[in-house]
Amino acid sequence: KSVAAIVGRPNVGKSTIFNRLVGERISIVEDTPGVTRDRVYAEADWLSTVFNVIDTGGIEMSDEPLLVQMRQQAEIAIAESDVIIFLLNGREGMTAADEEVAKILYKSNKPVVVAVNKIDNPEMREKIYEYYALGFGEPYPISGAHGLGLGDLLDAVVGYFPEIQGQASDEDTVYFSLIGRPNVGKSSLVNALLHEERVIVSEQGGTTRDAVDTHLHKDGQDFVIIDTAGMRKRGKVYEATEKYSVLRALKAIERSDVVLVLIDAETGIREQDKKIAGYAHEAGRSIIITVNKWDTVETDENTMKEFEQKVRAHFQYLDYAPIVFLSAKTKKRLHTLIPAIKTASENHAKRVQTNTLNDVIMDALAMNPTPTVKGKRLKVLYTTQVAVKPPSFVVFVNEPELMHFSYRRFLENRIRDAFGFVGTPIKIFARKR
Ligand code: GDP
Repeated sequence: KSVAAIVGRPNVGKSTIFNRLVGERISIVEDTPGVTRDRVYAEADWLSTVFNVIDTGGIEMSDEPLLVQMRQQAEIAIAESDVIIFLLNGREGMTAADEEVAKILYKSNKPVVVAVNKIDNPEMREKIYEYYALGFGEPYPISGAHGLGLGDLLDAVVGYFPEIQGQASDEDTVYFSLIGRPNVGKSSLVNALLHEERVIVSEQGGTTRDAVDTHLHKDGQDFVIIDTAGMRKRGKVYEATEKYSVLRALKAIERSDVVLVLIDAETGIREQDKKIAGYAHEAGRSIIITVNKWDTVETDENTMKEFEQKVRAHFQYLDYAPIVFLSAKTKKRLHTLIPAIKTASENHAKRVQTNTLNDVIMDALAMNPTPTVKGKRLKVLYTTQVAVKPPSFVVFVNEPELMHFSYRRFLENRIRDAFGFVGTPIKIFARKR
């Protein structure tokens, strides 16, 4: 059975969380005579995974100094657990004692999930951001007193258990979909990619079959094509309304790492293309603008450049999306597509180092000083990446209102250039520190 330990300085709420996690089961824990370990270990379960929880707060300590006690607790936890839940008190903020615990955990090489306790209502959620600085990844806001946020925390904890990690994971599989108005060549492109044959076709579970998932292995990478176009061709049911096809496209986008926005080179860019591209952009997916039917265009050395300028002018907000020109019919330039998808998906999931990120921001600030609004100057304190898919950053500032669109855009471009986020949108949030 896997073991999760709850570690943290005194008074962060370890025993409350422990009782929440193990619930009624506390009563079935046997006392070990002579050792003050009763109620320290108990069984818990989540999503049909049964595991043990250690409450290090329940480990009876001598009257040693605090630091020594915390070290002992942490060491027991590190030795015996598969995952450590590092509990902090969101009401008090980070303390020196928390940092001491963090130092011990850094050395452990065990997975650590950060749980910020006493976040009793949604308004308090912003208190979790400072804990990104610990470097253990996403902090989970929880409330032991109200039993909030425990599900998300447990999802993260259980995800680190060896038995779960051992399960076939499709983390490395790149999911992509093709969207575009009818007849741009979505089906033709899917077939071209699959060389006209669908080797393994596995249909998505569920009652409404909105898409066919087709696996593809290329250049040492597993891909899944979420094909909505094929459905329409299969039967009358799917030949339904515009509304239904939009819904299907939205669902496909939702499941994608990368979305190919198809444009017909023969008919040019239409209003509907912009609408469709807008969905993918808003969903925060990586995007590749795919200009199909390139065989129909008489090309000279300028054609591609001219078409590219047209695309850029119509899709200004998609400036991060690379443009690929190809023909599904003749397979001309088709080989450029898979590498572009691979790069776009890597960038979508890319995490950058906090210190390098802050160096980039410092350089940017030196190059283009922060604006002053009504006599007040924007101060940028530090920046941290808070999420991937798409890469998202929080910039801690003195006053978030002073961060105007244009300055945010400037920082975004600096980050983009420095780390090469081709294909993926990136998000920047200003937060008060
Ligand atoms: P979908 O509705 O987006 O799935 O589009 P289809 O794949 O059914 O293609 C619509 C039409 O465009 C068909 O007649 C295809 O043969 C044609 N077509 C698709 N790709 C190309 C291409 O690269 N070049 C040319 N010339 N025709 C294409």
